[in-house]
Amino acid sequence: MKLILLGAPGAGKGTQAEIISEKYNIPTISTGNIIRAALKNGTEMGLKAKAYIDAGNLVPDDVVIGIIKERLSEKDCENGYILDGFPRTIPQAEALDRMGFAIDAALSIEVADEEIVKRMSGRRVCGKCGASYHTEYKKPERDGICNLCGEDLIIRKDDEPDTVKNRLAVFHDQTEPLKEYYKTSGKLLIVEGQDKVEDTTRLVLTALEKVK
Ligand code: AMP
Repeated sequence: MKLILLGAPGAGKGTQAEIISEKYNIPTISTGNIIRAALKNGTEMGLKAKAYIDAGNLVPDDVVIGIIKERLSEKDCENGYILDGFPRTIPQAEALDRMGFAIDAALSIEVADEEIVKRMSGRRVCGKCGASYHTEYKKPERDGICNLCGEDLIIRKDDEPDTVKNRLAVFHDQTEPLKEYYKTSGKLLIVEGQDKVEDTTRLVLTALEKVK
């Protein structure tokens, strides 16, 4: 299965991607994670992206298109993939089509802005391994400490309230038009994000049964 996950930042794409990835045995490609890793490793691309990410803006199309082209050409993508966080603009979607990486479906997880703001204010990540938690919905075993590596949990700079507001504005302006783009090609699936992760998962997996 070749799947795109659409949705506002904080709509739960990453969590659903993990579950779909395990069920269908295909990798998740998250441009956000790739960029953050580059940033951590101090690569030229990472340094270029930093100012955009910190402000909640999109990294330029040519940078992310280059990342995706390289990653989708790797062997583990031959049998399918889940794109989490790409494409985020119409030019990115057009580039994906042009590069010949066909997709079967674009699944949009819909969550209201007020709920997103509430969710993101509780999001915490491990400063070392990047595992993510939530102060209400996905608590770590020990307060403020990563279950996996024992490091302190931190608030990602782009999860701070003002940045979240900007990320939502950018989403509505630049990413939401992709719904129309994939609707036109008959690829769009819509799922209403629920309060409980497992309820959203049930809807997501049911929607995916319709995909080949
Ligand atoms: P995410 O973790 O998916 O929310 O991504 C974090 C940040 O990485 C975004 O706010 C953007 O600055 C950048 N980013 C990730 N994917 C893309 C993309 N497809 N196009 C442009 N910027 C991106």
